[in-house]
Amino acid sequence: MKIAVLPGDGIGPEIVAEAVKVLHALDLSFELETAPVGGAAYAALGHPLPESTLKLAQESDAILFGAVGDWKYDTLDRHLRPEQAILGLRKNLGLFANFRPAICYEQLVNASSLKPELVAGLDILIIRELTGDIYFGQPRGRRIAADGHFPGAEEAFDTMRYSRPEIERIAHVAFQAARKRSKRVTSVDKANVLETFQFWKDVVTEVSLQYPDVTLDHMYVDNAAMQLVKAPKKFDVIVTGNMFGDILSDEASMLTGSIGMLPSASLNANNKGLYEPSHGSAPDIAGKGIANPLATILSAAMMLRFSLNQLDSAQRIENAVSKVLAQGLRTADIYSEGTTRVSTIEMGDAVVKALR
Ligand code: NAD
Repeated sequence: MKIAVLPGDGIGPEIVAEAVKVLHALDLSFELETAPVGGAAYAALGHPLPESTLKLAQESDAILFGAVGDWKYDTLDRHLRPEQAILGLRKNLGLFANFRPAICYEQLVNASSLKPELVAGLDILIIRELTGDIYFGQPRGRRIAADGHFPGAEEAFDTMRYSRPEIERIAHVAFQAARKRSKRVTSVDKANVLETFQFWKDVVTEVSLQYPDVTLDHMYVDNAAMQLVKAPKKFDVIVTGNMFGDILSDEASMLTGSIGMLPSASLNANNKGLYEPSHGSAPDIAGKGIANPLATILSAAMMLRFSLNQLDSAQRIENAVSKVLAQGLRTADIYSEGTTRVSTIEMGDAVVKALR
């Protein structure tokens, strides 16, 4: 099994080091190869996704990714910015299905910004389409407006678009995932305003006919954003487009206590995947040794389960994470009175110890 390890920027190298430590503690043989990505790659090789890094990602069975981005690169041309690396990997590897589970660990119920009774036992899965929508749609750019409210004025524009096959394949992913859970899918759209999302709704409804055992309902994105904080446990599987999924999954992450707890998997049609925490590179805390490595460690568990077929090892990691939380160990983001504050490295060490 060959795993490409792409630590990236900010807290990326710190949290990926802990996930690698956990992988090494399993009795499995891996070939791990590390390569630069994002701002680190731009600084070293002049491009956020160098050819050599892309080649390694293409040749590997799975990719363990930290995070990319730093404010110091914000003035670069867009195609050279660190964030282009993750968009480039998604596009080149066809990683169209993003799985973001939002699970509230019993031990962290009090770390959520919502009342404990609203989040206790929360277990939802957001499936976000990842290679289409307004993030990839062409044309886009800046120009002088030919019409609109201010003809002749400078304007910027992006294109929201989805094709039938793009919607069909993500809908199948959602219905199949729901079959392994409580058989409910909520498709989130903005069909009342956007043509693209009326089409989305129609196609998802058509695909649902192939899954009569799964209940489908539709919800507008503004209502979904509200329901997620009002009664999040009503949801099971949420399927939505790239932009709505980006926003709703971050919202859902906070229900669980901290974005530092949430793993994610981005898969292509062959189950090859890129595994990364749901959060970014957190430049505000980089280098301080306080970042929570659990989202990345749990992403490594998802990698073992989805791409490497090592189900027992995945479960061992997830059990070890529950165990360290039960022991009261907390990084700063999930710390509360009466628990023990630990550093990034101490949290990684504790997971390794719990594994053994
Ligand atoms: P962020 O997720 O990096 O940080 C948001 C807040 O959460 C910050 O206060 C941060 O300290 C905290 N946080 C994040 N991860 C944490 C962890 N593991 N432990 C403890 N606290 C944690 O989002 P942002 O600040 O909006 O973006 C920072 C940079 O990350 C930007 O350059 C952005 O473009 C990039 N980004 C990258 C990815 C990716 O690599 N996939 C995703 C999102 C944002």
